[in-house]
Amino acid sequence: MNELNDDLQQALHQVASWMRDATNVVIFTGAGVSTESGIPDFRGPQGIWKKVDASIFEFKNYIRDPEVRKRAWQMRRDAEMWKAKPNPSHLAIAEFEKLCNVTAIITQNIDRLHHAAESDPTKILELHGNILEVGCLECKRRWPTIEILDRVEAGEEDPRCTECGGILKTATISFGQSLDPEVLAACEKASREADLFLAAGSSLVVVPAAHMPLIASQSGARLVIVNLEPTPLDELADLIIRGATGQILPSLAKALMTS
Ligand code: NAD
Repeated sequence: MNELNDDLQQALHQVASWMRDATNVVIFTGAGVSTESGIPDFRGPQGIWKKVDASIFEFKNYIRDPEVRKRAWQMRRDAEMWKAKPNPSHLAIAEFEKLCNVTAIITQNIDRLHHAAESDPTKILELHGNILEVGCLECKRRWPTIEILDRVEAGEEDPRCTECGGILKTATISFGQSLDPEVLAACEKASREADLFLAAGSSLVVVPAAHMPLIASQSGARLVIVNLEPTPLDELADLIIRGATGQILPSLAKALMTS
């Protein structure tokens, strides 16, 4: 790792001392924490939206257009997520749990890499679901995604529910689709109760996810943002660290251990 400059060292020690003193540390992650695992984000410098038409991620298009579903299943089948491993960002977040009072890890990510990094699964709140399961949008029956991808591989371009013929979709939230109300309520509660809220690798533009740092800040939490780029909530932040989460978060874990 490169030598950290003095300003960065100072910022890390400041955040570490806030984290150590906090009774409810909430970590909030977006697609940026997984880019170093080889999974592209949407809006970052190498994001998916530089390459594909964002309209395929709209729920209403998925429902009405079989061509969108065919492309979505191909994308799922070929996704980098299946072979991705946790990177130093995920491992550092799992480490934070041993070093301070982490009460929740709220993630916008669907890749399960916080689980793979062995963060406490009871603390992980997957606001946008995950890719491991597929559900029927009609009868709500569920299958492991792997079984449905086997059907795609065998030639079913738009696999349908074997019980009722309904449309199948991974148990993830597309744009315009409602979030699971229980998960959303748990995220809002954790954000309200936070006294230190660390948002890492999220563009903080997708709502209601981006309301969480807002709720935390308005409820009195210190807000720390780690991102390569500016976000719309930067002006609310008590401290912003501009950098790659794969470098910053392990350095923060080290600062927590040593100071
Ligand atoms: P986003 O694509 O809108 O933004 C990613 C942000 O992370 C950007 O601001 C970018 O500058 C920053 N970033 C990228 N790499 C970084 C790094 N190494 N270190 C620090 N910052 C970095 O992502 P979002 O805000 O999470 O919203 C997009 C939605 O798309 C998410 O809600 C999620 O559901 C979904 N998504 C998930 C995955 C995944 O599960 N890994 C991947 C792509 C999209």
